[in-house]
Amino acid sequence: MKNVIIVGSGPVGSAFARKLHDLSDDFQITQFEVGPKVSESLGRHSKNFQDDAVIESIQQASQGPNSGIKTDASRMFRGVIVARPGTYLVEEGLDAQMPALAMSANVGGMGIHWTGACPAFDLAELPDFINLAEFEKDFEEARELLKVTQSAYEGAPLGDELRERLGQKYNVGRSVQRQVQPMPLAVQVKDGKLWWTGTEEILEDLVSSSRYSLIPDTLVTELVHDGVTVSGVKTKNLSTNQISQVPADLVFIAADAIRTPQLMFNSKIVLNALGRYLNEHGQILGLAKLPAELKSSTSKPAPKTKGLNTTGVSWIPYEPKSFPAHGQIMQMDTSPIPLEGVTEADPGSFVGVGLFVAKQISADDRVEFSSSEKDSFGMPKPSIFYAHNDEDNARFTKAKELVSEVCQTVGEELGSGPIVMPAGSSLHYLGTVRMGSKNDGKSVCDLDSKVWGFSNLYVGGNGVIPTETAGNPTATSVAFAIKAARSIVRGDEIK
Ligand code: FAD
Repeated sequence: MKNVIIVGSGPVGSAFARKLHDLSDDFQITQFEVGPKVSESLGRHSKNFQDDAVIESIQQASQGPNSGIKTDASRMFRGVIVARPGTYLVEEGLDAQMPALAMSANVGGMGIHWTGACPAFDLAELPDFINLAEFEKDFEEARELLKVTQSAYEGAPLGDELRERLGQKYNVGRSVQRQVQPMPLAVQVKDGKLWWTGTEEILEDLVSSSRYSLIPDTLVTELVHDGVTVSGVKTKNLSTNQISQVPADLVFIAADAIRTPQLMFNSKIVLNALGRYLNEHGQILGLAKLPAELKSSTSKPAPKTKGLNTTGVSWIPYEPKSFPAHGQIMQMDTSPIPLEGVTEADPGSFVGVGLFVAKQISADDRVEFSSSEKDSFGMPKPSIFYAHNDEDNARFTKAKELVSEVCQTVGEELGSGPIVMPAGSSLHYLGTVRMGSKNDGKSVCDLDSKVWGFSNLYVGGNGVIPTETAGNPTATSVAFAIKAARSIVRGDEIK
């Protein structure tokens, strides 16, 4: 039996665990998570709880150093940079270059707080060196693991009408797969209620396997290695302060795009690209009021069920030339960010229009770690260097125009125009442990996510994605983790 250690319990670490476990009986898998177990099960999505007080307590317990503090995300619209519930800002109060950069610390990671949008990337968003046929198979498997459907909001009476309007404007010249459609979402309908995918849906019966365990409240502080082979990890139990060294035959780090390179830095793993090429899509928001005739034109009754009452979530896929942004049109009770001006007076009349815009990649955009200063968990303190160039600014200007255009296509644009969210707001941070086709100093891992120069060290998560992207990345990162697991079972990495 080979000991496999996974650092981090978010969707990517969990998908890797599940896949490796199912592919072979040869692995004893231990997943370490620095955050606490915040509900009875291993990673139930916070939105699956009915009681708002329970949801709040789960969110607050996930906020690392800000645990127990209530976050009011609507303050963002008054110019305050705050973390979304369930997350905490990496550099609270500092004028960092990515001031809204946030993370979660809990069993399930961000994957118990996420909105579950799992669109397929456009070809232009995928690395040109991957095997596309293989990737498409892995991506489908990722969507199966994440329980992705496009039918969760089927009963929403205005969804079809809304997409009809958007389609007339934006479907021209697009392939069927890239036309306006319901957003693929990691959510099922159970007993008439939405049931969002957390990590418990990914792990499923793994939790009762004798070959799997998850250890919460435990920080992995360092990898023990000789520069080629990792032989174990050092851990610190945050409840008892006990320091341990745990032997490993293979390590997979899925500790998010900041803390994965942080752990490698702390382990004195030196790679030119580590922490570099940090990237995220910009996020520009608008608010539209649907016209009265749209509401009255439907004969479908509004379902009584919470969350199914208006338009659902619609997707305008990214098309680099004709529509250079990824569009999410969301009924307000699913928008992750409350928008000002929305009243309860006319429920079902408002949609949030969120456009994500790809930013160019630069090696200078990076996270660096301090050799002397520490973060709240005692790990090397990160600093962010991140700047927009002229091309990025032009793309943002174009995306603002598109937000207004989309609002006007579905109804009336409200408020004082599109809101450009501060850098870091995407919660999709890419590139810091990026994949590459050769060890040329511009990447951290190979196409199977194996770290260059190492025989048994793998990385996972959005940080592996090397390209500029507009769409939500989680399903793609899960697909890369599935590929990594398969390569390990197929190959002879572990001696
Ligand atoms: P994470 O989920 O971040 O998990 C990493 C885990 O590693 C954390 O729990 C952390 O505590 C742990 N960890 C870190 N360092 C250590 C260490 N040294 N030792 C032990 N444990 C460690 N994505 C989409 O694609 N679509 C969406 O619609 C979407 N919506 C979102 C909405 C919200 C409100 C949020 C918060 C996120 C959203 N995301 C979305 C992002 C998505 O949740 C992340 O992409 C996904 O969770 C990444 O998975 P991961 O496993 O790589 O990392």
